[in-house]
Amino acid sequence: MEEVKAPVKKVFKKAPRKKVCAFCQEKLEAIDYKDVNRLKKFITEGGKILPRRMSGTCAAHQRLLATAIKRARITALLPFKGE
Ligand SMILES: [Zn+2]
Repeated sequence: MEEVKAPVKKVFKKAPRKKVCAFCQEKLEAIDYKDVNRLKKFITEGGKILPRRMSGTCAAHQRLLATAIKRARITALLPFKGE
């Protein structure tokens, strides 16, 4: 009995690029809430803080980042909501 081999489909997965925390790369231990240009990269258009799986930020820095963003909001450097 001959077995018909089904053509093996190659699944192309996206290359698992390891995200490295941007703050670890710069060896930053503190995140300045006045550094709006940096913080802006970590919020969505709606003004939300980007989740870790999207930004690749490590847990420690994500915490610092969240604090910095919240502080920046209070000081009106960042919006609470998008337009
Ligand atoms: Zn980090």
